[in-house]
Amino acid sequence: MNYEQRDLKVADPEEQTMSRSPGGEESPMEAPAGPGTAQPRPIEEMAATRHVRLEDLNAYYGDNHAVRGVSLSFEPRRVTAIIGPSGCGKSTMVRCVNRMHEEIPGARSDGRVLLDDVDLHSSSVDVVSVRRAVGMVFQKPNPFPTMSIFDNVASGLRFTGTAKGEITDRVSAALEAAGLWDEVEGRLSSPGMSLSGGQQQRLCIARALAVEPDVLLMDEPCSALDPVATLKIEELIGQLKDRVTIAVVTHNMQQAGRVADTTAFMLDGEVIEVGPTDKMFTNPDDDRTEQYVTGKFG
Ligand code: ADP
Repeated sequence: MNYEQRDLKVADPEEQTMSRSPGGEESPMEAPAGPGTAQPRPIEEMAATRHVRLEDLNAYYGDNHAVRGVSLSFEPRRVTAIIGPSGCGKSTMVRCVNRMHEEIPGARSDGRVLLDDVDLHSSSVDVVSVRRAVGMVFQKPNPFPTMSIFDNVASGLRFTGTAKGEITDRVSAALEAAGLWDEVEGRLSSPGMSLSGGQQQRLCIARALAVEPDVLLMDEPCSALDPVATLKIEELIGQLKDRVTIAVVTHNMQQAGRVADTTAFMLDGEVIEVGPTDKMFTNPDDDRTEQYVTGKFG
């Protein structure tokens, strides 16, 4: 199975796995026999080809309507930044993409989240497949505290049933892709927590990349890091965008300006404006965008 045919498993084992060809049409294929049958695709060969499209997405916490009718695309090979004042729904929106929102008691959502032509919110799509296809990196680096550097990166591979013989190569490839290999090569059995904050964040990126996601969501990935570590992550985002479709939530407008090709501005749960980052910062269409990017509020 090549990368283009990677599958999202449907929840019902009686149903067939839906694979997506490069043309985007769905075609049934033989369901995998179970864990251990996943075919590795070297990270060096990853190529960002998948579109994410949110269509009229709404998300709620009880009565709080936190995301309001959002329609937005994350394009492959282009970093999309999501900016907006605290509490405007940025994190909630991205958590809907990999279905983490539904884990919160009292939370619900409606609308569609399409990965190419597959609706990730469809009841027939297995949530584990969604989390594998859509990786996430959080504000605070969160390595598994009791695990070594190696095991942190290998954890997702073991969970998804990668053959033992492949794990070592895939861990080193993921660490390489996350720009961490040279710094940890000789100490893979040291605790993940022994790394600096910036290294821990790159470890978390390696952990996310190891399972070969199509999409990487980054929720304020640098807000707990110093400027040098921030710069490394920003450089990494620039390198990874050709391999994986990336969306970055940030409250740091300079960061959006440095890393993003496209920027979306959110306010009160809605996307007010989305466009090329340069335009959003120099000549936005909406007055509210202009006020926000010029620091008049937020
Ligand atoms: P942002 O990422 O832009 O700061 P959030 O998505 O975190 O915004 O928050 C949007 C709204 O949802 C806010 O009103 C916030 O209080 C609420 N909210 C966020 N997370 C939760 C949660 N776990 N439980 C209840 N309400 C939440």
